[in-house]
Amino acid sequence: MAVAQDLKVYRNYIAGEWVGSDSGEKLDVVNPVNGELVYRAVSATPAEVDAAVAAARQAVETSDWADNPERRAAALRKLSDRLKGLGKDLARLLALEAGKLFPVSLAEVNRGADALSYYAGLARAVYGRSTMLNPDSLAIMLREPVGVVGIIVPWNMALSLLTRPLSAALAAGNAVVAKPSSMTPGATAEFIQLIDEIDEFPKGIVNLLIGSGGTVGDQLVRHADVDMISFTGDTRTGKHVLKTAADTLKKVSLELGGKSPNIIFEDADLDRAVKGAINGASFFNAGQVCIAGTRVLVPKQLHSELVDRMRTVAEGLKVGDGLERGVELGPVISKTQQDRIYDYIDRGKQEAKLVTGGYRYQEGPLAQGYFVPPTIFDDVPVQATIAQEEIFGPVLAVQTFEDEEDAARVANSTVYGLAAAVWTKDINKALRVAKKVRSGMVWVNTFGKLYAAGEMGGAKQSGIGRSYGLEGLYEYTEMKHINIQLGG
Ligand code: NDP
Repeated sequence: MAVAQDLKVYRNYIAGEWVGSDSGEKLDVVNPVNGELVYRAVSATPAEVDAAVAAARQAVETSDWADNPERRAAALRKLSDRLKGLGKDLARLLALEAGKLFPVSLAEVNRGADALSYYAGLARAVYGRSTMLNPDSLAIMLREPVGVVGIIVPWNMALSLLTRPLSAALAAGNAVVAKPSSMTPGATAEFIQLIDEIDEFPKGIVNLLIGSGGTVGDQLVRHADVDMISFTGDTRTGKHVLKTAADTLKKVSLELGGKSPNIIFEDADLDRAVKGAINGASFFNAGQVCIAGTRVLVPKQLHSELVDRMRTVAEGLKVGDGLERGVELGPVISKTQQDRIYDYIDRGKQEAKLVTGGYRYQEGPLAQGYFVPPTIFDDVPVQATIAQEEIFGPVLAVQTFEDEEDAARVANSTVYGLAAAVWTKDINKALRVAKKVRSGMVWVNTFGKLYAAGEMGGAKQSGIGRSYGLEGLYEYTEMKHINIQLGG
């Protein structure tokens, strides 16, 4: 591969310095639209992983960060403002490194800025409790930071899935060692540069390690001086991380995969519900969204009408380079991921009825990149592989139900429990079903809306712990009980 002279090389950020030798292992990051090299990055060595953890420990123990909420609030607020200021440039880089649509990338930057701003406010509200336990005994329950938090991030929303745990961990007074996916470290490194330029962040309080999960990620999870791992990624990797972290008994928070059901009842506003189903399937990010509503559950009597309507919307989507205006579906991240999705599509053709998509682009620009057309399967049995496993591509499975009870049964028929939606005009029905579905989040008459102030997270095998909101802050704290004997 020819490498341009001015090609950017991203490095690790440790104790306030950009480090990483040119002779070290390099990662090539290519644009999924056409396979062209976008930038290179230097992988961290084992010694650099140790140095990053030591820098984080030193920063959290020797600076006043943990005990100075005003400093943390000021730092996070500045970071939020500067991130917003970098919006379009960073969105372009996110689009180039992951093949995402520009508007989706821009929304991601803004979501990150919003999380930072929200947690800037909460940095000054990390309250514990105090009480008299008996006439002689005063208890102070002090909410303290956990210490050094390793944050491991996937590639599908590289920036918002970094800022989500990072803003909460920093607001609570922790130090952070962040590891982005080796497929998308560039936008993360540009974001870390903003931290470098803000004086309120003590050097070493945020560190960046670039490298693969099997080496750098694994070392971070095993590290005896990392107090907590915040992991976002695949359920299988999450289980591995949890088992590995058990050796050092560190705290682990897991945001994992999903197979979210989008349940449409016959009394729903069907125009909105159909749009919601297609939007929920996250074709805007080629289906690469953890909360994607990849199963649409429809009543038997409305089944063919709804499938026809969904097919029409899906076939109208413009597929192409996400940096071009009007494009509604971009490529998936890599050739490996593309092959994996086509394997699922082949399985789907045996298990269910293909409604639209499922073909390969044989010529033209779309054949140059990792594109998969919007694909819908109908009559998908509950036990089918494409109904059970997270495909992480633009593939939607339609399933039918008889009544409310049956809808909840089908909705709950996978190991996942990340998100769900119910479409109906009957609020009582909406609430009954919302309570029956085992899921960290349930939307009513909408899909996919996330808020920095509203908790999200997984039930069942979709995760452990909560992100965003107050609970998202408390994840990164531990309660210390200081007990005072009075009167003597
Ligand atoms: P992976 O689990 O493959 O990777 C996630 C991160 O973990 C990457 O940084 C990866 O590094 C790292 N990693 C891989 N192996 C290890 C290991 N043994 N020890 C430590 N770290 C490791 O997921 P993907 O990147 O493929 O992301 C897609 C998945 O993420 C989907 O399942 C999706 O549902 C889930 N996800 C969940 C979200 C949620 O909020 N619940 C949000 C978004 C995505 P590297 O890539 O460099 O090898």
